[in-house]
Amino acid sequence: MLVDYHTHPACHGEVQVNEHLLVRMVETAKALGIKELGLSDHDRLFYSWDKECLEAVRREFPEVKLRLGVEVSYGPSSRLELIRRFLQEPEMDYIICSVHSIDGWSFDEVDQLEGYDRWEPDELYRAYYSNLERGVRHGFGDIVGHLDVIKLFDYRPKSDPVKLAMPVLSAIRERGLTVEINANGLNKPVREIYPEQAIIEQCFAMDIPITLSSDGHSPEDIGRHLNVAKEAAWKAGYRRIATFEKRRRLMVQL
Ligand SMILES: [Zn+2]
Ligand SMILES: [Zn+2]
Repeated sequence: MLVDYHTHPACHGEVQVNEHLLVRMVETAKALGIKELGLSDHDRLFYSWDKECLEAVRREFPEVKLRLGVEVSYGPSSRLELIRRFLQEPEMDYIICSVHSIDGWSFDEVDQLEGYDRWEPDELYRAYYSNLERGVRHGFGDIVGHLDVIKLFDYRPKSDPVKLAMPVLSAIRERGLTVEINANGLNKPVREIYPEQAIIEQCFAMDIPITLSSDGHSPEDIGRHLNVAKEAAWKAGYRRIATFEKRRRLMVQL
């Protein structure tokens, strides 16, 4: 079964989310054979649109299950209040835990590339993974977002990427989170899914559940390259994927 559990209806805040926009997203999903579509706007945008329009779209497209989530940028303590609010949302199906910055430096912004010059590659990966591990151990998340996103501008570590990821993988295993196979890396300079194949295989060896996502930021981008993510999961040995309803995980056939 094909699912897309990481999408951004409100994009980066410049889009007004309404029923029409959601219908366009669901139509793209339906055309690709996606059975579950998760809406997971960035945390600061979660309350930027009225969730009441979800019901009308659900009635119109019973063949695509619409799930409601949020992508939390784990980091500054100021977000803790927001996380507490998300945990109390009755309609919340799942929460993605992601890291997009290190000490205030947004390593995924194209206009902050000079920040990479300050780091020795392995130290950069360790700093990123240690932030992610803190987020995982915090305990609010269901899915870990784009696990090795620190590679997006193709800054590669010197040592084995799997070894560098091991502490966070152990935390994910302990805390029972799910790892998404996020196809959006194929649209970035690194031109590779998150996480890379060797890490997906390590997840399989550790019995960590996975799900699939495009990280699409517009209706046209829903499900983009999802077949690549699915093939990577299959190649690693996965035959089941995780879906979420009201923060309960349900495994379905891949
Ligand atoms: Zn993200
Ligand atoms: Zn995202």
